[in-house]
Amino acid sequence: MVQGKFDVIHGWAAMNPGTKVEPWTYKPRPIGPNDIEIEIQYSGICGSDLHIIKGEWHGTSYPAIVGHEIVGRVVTKGEKVSEFSEGDVVGVGAQVYACLQDDCGQCNRGLDPHCPSTVYTYNSKYADGEQSQGGYASAIRVDANYVFKIPDAMVKDHLEYAAPLMCAGVTTFAPMIRKGVKKGDKVGIVGIGGLGHLAIQYASALGAEVYTFSHSPYKKQECLELGASHFINTSNAEEVESAHHKLDYLFVTSKGKADEYNDFISLMNIGGTIVLLALPEGKIGIGAGEVIFTGVSITGSLIGGIDILKQTLEFSAKHNIRPIIERYPMEKINDALEHMNNGKARYRIVLDNLASRN
Ligand SMILES: [Zn+2]
Ligand SMILES: [Zn+2]
Repeated sequence: MVQGKFDVIHGWAAMNPGTKVEPWTYKPRPIGPNDIEIEIQYSGICGSDLHIIKGEWHGTSYPAIVGHEIVGRVVTKGEKVSEFSEGDVVGVGAQVYACLQDDCGQCNRGLDPHCPSTVYTYNSKYADGEQSQGGYASAIRVDANYVFKIPDAMVKDHLEYAAPLMCAGVTTFAPMIRKGVKKGDKVGIVGIGGLGHLAIQYASALGAEVYTFSHSPYKKQECLELGASHFINTSNAEEVESAHHKLDYLFVTSKGKADEYNDFISLMNIGGTIVLLALPEGKIGIGAGEVIFTGVSITGSLIGGIDILKQTLEFSAKHNIRPIIERYPMEKINDALEHMNNGKARYRIVLDNLASRN
């Protein structure tokens, strides 16, 4: 068995429901033959992190170190790992394990986030019962299948921008690739935030004509700069009506109100597709008649599998797609979480371990 660099991992854990984390250490899993130990440099804050810290999603098992937008360097690798070397700059996203067997009906068609054996990066259990712990920490040990090389161009040019691509990036890009968004399609993005500002860039880079929908008119200029052709202020009925029946795709990246969802159908071209990426409270209301008469499909999308995560990184590097971020030293993590919890993050927060160490 290979010995790792970290006998204990120092992290920032939620100890009980709330919005604060505190220093906490744990003994990491042994490094198996196909595992990699990563020294973490940057860790993005995702909206899911806050839900887990607060205990809002059926059962958080405290202490929980969250964080699933991880970038760092390989410091140790198991005997069977051939595709990585020590020193490689790599990322880890929201998933750290799936069976990846040919006889798995989900893994064998690239839907590994839906594998029954999935282990998420934090607040999830490995087969041996041990809890996974995430990226607000000095290091992480994970299966090499869920470690991704960061393209050279990103390593050279502000590596911290790569972190949010590991969840927010792949979450928005995956359904565009799976649904086949292409040049000339009219694509709507509802919600201009952590996901939405990346979705605009991906849709635009794919050649789509991008319509952005937000109730914050001050975001118009930014949307246009990110690649949108149209900005619709959702508080203005006339502007909304001007977009009726236009869209081939609509990506809903903000929670909104459950009863707004039926109105989204009016924006769709016949046979268009609405993709849900955020979780509103309660059940969304959609009329069967609207769906039948428009032929609109309504679907959802959960992170992205191994193949799509690789594509996300390559495509982002090629098209220079990067999140708009705010940086915090890791030791200021509670300030960062409060900022995020107040809805003030523009648009993703990246925690910097190096800044804390220097
Ligand atoms: Zn599987
Ligand atoms: Zn996430």
